[in-house]
Amino acid sequence: MTTVADILRTMDYGPSLEAAAPVNTWLDAHAHSFRHFIHGEFVAPAQNEYFEVFNPATEERLARVAHGSDADIDQAVAAARQALPAWSALSGHQRARYLYAIARHLQKHARFFAVLETMDNGKTIRESRDIDIPLVVRHFYHHAGWAQLLDSEFPAHEAVGVCGQIVPWNFPLLMLAWKVAPALAAGNTVVLKPAEFTPLTALAFAELCVEVGLPAGVVNIVTGDGHTGASLVSHAGVDKIAFTGSTEVGRLIRRATAGTDKKLSLELGGKSPFIVFDDADLDAAVEGVVDSIWFNQGQVCCAGSRILVQESVAARFGDKLRARMRKLRIGNPLDKSNDVGAIVDRVQLQRIRQMVASGRADGLSCWQTALDAPSSGHFFAPTFFEDVPAAHALAQEEIFGPVVISMSFRTLDEAVALANHSRYGLAASLWSENIDVCLTVAAQLAAGVVWVNGANMFDAAVGFGGYRESGFGREGGREGMHEYLVPKWLHAPGAQQAQDAPVQVAAHLAPTEAGAARSIDRSAKFYIGGKQVRPDSGYSFGVRSGSGALLGHAGFGNRKDIRNAVETARKAGNWSQASGHARAQVLYYFAENLGARAQTFISHLQAIDGISEAAASQQFEQVLARVFHYAAMADKHDGSVHSTLTAHITLAMNEPFGVVGVRSPANTPLLAALSLALPLLATGNRVVLVPPPDASLMFADLYQVLDTSDMPAGVLNIVWGDSDELAEVLALHDDVDALWYFGPAAGAARVQAASAGNLKSTWVQRRQLDWASREQGQGGEFMRHATQVKNVWIPYGE
Ligand code: NDP
Repeated sequence: MTTVADILRTMDYGPSLEAAAPVNTWLDAHAHSFRHFIHGEFVAPAQNEYFEVFNPATEERLARVAHGSDADIDQAVAAARQALPAWSALSGHQRARYLYAIARHLQKHARFFAVLETMDNGKTIRESRDIDIPLVVRHFYHHAGWAQLLDSEFPAHEAVGVCGQIVPWNFPLLMLAWKVAPALAAGNTVVLKPAEFTPLTALAFAELCVEVGLPAGVVNIVTGDGHTGASLVSHAGVDKIAFTGSTEVGRLIRRATAGTDKKLSLELGGKSPFIVFDDADLDAAVEGVVDSIWFNQGQVCCAGSRILVQESVAARFGDKLRARMRKLRIGNPLDKSNDVGAIVDRVQLQRIRQMVASGRADGLSCWQTALDAPSSGHFFAPTFFEDVPAAHALAQEEIFGPVVISMSFRTLDEAVALANHSRYGLAASLWSENIDVCLTVAAQLAAGVVWVNGANMFDAAVGFGGYRESGFGREGGREGMHEYLVPKWLHAPGAQQAQDAPVQVAAHLAPTEAGAARSIDRSAKFYIGGKQVRPDSGYSFGVRSGSGALLGHAGFGNRKDIRNAVETARKAGNWSQASGHARAQVLYYFAENLGARAQTFISHLQAIDGISEAAASQQFEQVLARVFHYAAMADKHDGSVHSTLTAHITLAMNEPFGVVGVRSPANTPLLAALSLALPLLATGNRVVLVPPPDASLMFADLYQVLDTSDMPAGVLNIVWGDSDELAEVLALHDDVDALWYFGPAAGAARVQAASAGNLKSTWVQRRQLDWASREQGQGGEFMRHATQVKNVWIPYGE
């Protein structure tokens, strides 16, 4: 027997195994076989197909699990649809009780879930016990709260409907909680597909739903592979898709949902920077790396997988990191003394091995911890590549394994440039003792989450999600609740946008009445970079009134004009840095100058829509009120401070996207276009506006007002032509950060599909809005869509 004296002599860890017996008993009780959970019952798969699930640490078979087919998805969606009216009609308080009961029951079974997660996924018991399961519980408590407060905190909103939710294998139960808890709180019902490698905790959760008496059909779980997921995504009975996983599959889902009314949130990959400045506490930063990249074997979307270290401390930091790596314990994940567990599956292990081999083959300097792990099971040694060129695949691609790379920088600007040199934008970790440095850098990073002197911190009260190709939408907190709610009026019946009249480009332009009468011919040019610009195509078209009369000629825009407009908008970045007050001043001045030209615009509105002078005057008054509204809002779209961990403030900052394309609709064209452009401008975005071609002469007069209103060049650019074609160019453009499309169904489908390339956020409205209505035409929904939230975690205290 080992004595205390022996232990003191060697100071070695002894084995400290967590018992697997309760989980094995549960598996035995199910004869190691699981069916789908549909309408409150476990049902056999329609095609009687199953797949095997293994423990990645031992390669033992744990169970066989039903393989979901189209028929199974159909049955589950029908169950969710059937359960929806009663569930969404419950009071918030009644739903809160269910969510509270789920949280309580999860706590009662906490160790069982932790052990099962570890056996199914390979993550260490320390993590599943101390991080995953407590956070799962926290999410259900937090969202019991949102259910309780729904009416007062989200007035005039309602549930989206039936939600299809697809989760990955890296945090199986936690991702379920991130998706199921807000969905249920808001009154939705769900069909969830767990990952093929790790379905077991979701099935145990299904049993827990029965245990708490959740009404049948509110939560349905269909197990299966990518095909099962694809079937759920394309099912016509699903109103929303929430997905966490790879960027590649995110793109497929974006394409598959294009042209449907499905609400979509995507939480995708990352290649997050871990930035160490020379004044950082280097030992703390080394521990941060451990939490960043060896947490869950690096199979974490927000893993700090790219170390950027200031040159003057790079060598010292590298030495410290290697010394720490020597102490990492790799092995049986059920052993409480182990730091690093098993990789989820042989496939993933193979992928990691290949990427590491490619780095070595390219001559990169590679350092690995000695791998003293069991011979069976999928283990991989913690790995550190130093001085990796910024463009190398290891610095750009998500490895999703315990592999970190590093590179050095000299100045703060260089650190920011390197950090942002990625197609992703999920998270970042900053290490410095200087708060000025931390906040200056945090503000400049393209990342949805920034941890200051910390890493991989999560809380249910904070939204989590990415910029750029890391996806869109947020999970957690108030931000996340919006993903599962819609304004009530949007669910009410309403007319769809009509197709635009085709724009006729002709070799011969008929003379206009106005043109004949005038001595100097005038044709409407575009407004790009604060200048009037002729169309690149060299073509013009006739602009006709509502009654068909030829009013004048306008240039016909093409992709080159859009590219020029985007380029100039990109350069106008100062607008995004300006204070809200400065932007408000410009918008007020714009209102003032617009008011001075009232008669011009009233005449245009009359000519375009064939409306009376009184009606046109009323519309113009609404335009002025809208400009005032957003001038007023420019310094009031505040972020918030979330209540998260003790000794932390978590700042939720509303940031502009950058360059946003807007395709505005034909009805009430001036009011509609400004109702779309103004919230974007007020929040610091630069805009490329594509107004309806019929209204181009009016917009040519509008930019003369802009010219006199101190609007900096490039902040608002206006190009017209075939609106849907131009909108598609904007959707495809890599330098356009977001797109608002308000138009007919066919064009909406086009831009959504085109946006899959760089996964830009799109806000699409195929419905005809009543722009004069305050409910539909202005307000919080517009401001929310105009910004993306960056959450910055800042610790305090000594
Ligand atoms: P996927 O993106 O393929 O899987 C995520 C989920 O989507 C799983 O439930 C999966 O099912 C399902 N799925 C797969 N294909 C489709 C589809 N066409 N339509 C709908 N759902 C689908 O990730 P993988 O598990 O294949 O991992 C591959 C790589 O992705 C990893 O190496 C890693 O780099 C990255 N990844 C990133 C994650 C993140 O959070 N950022 C999470 C997981 C992986 P099934 O499991 O059965 O394939």
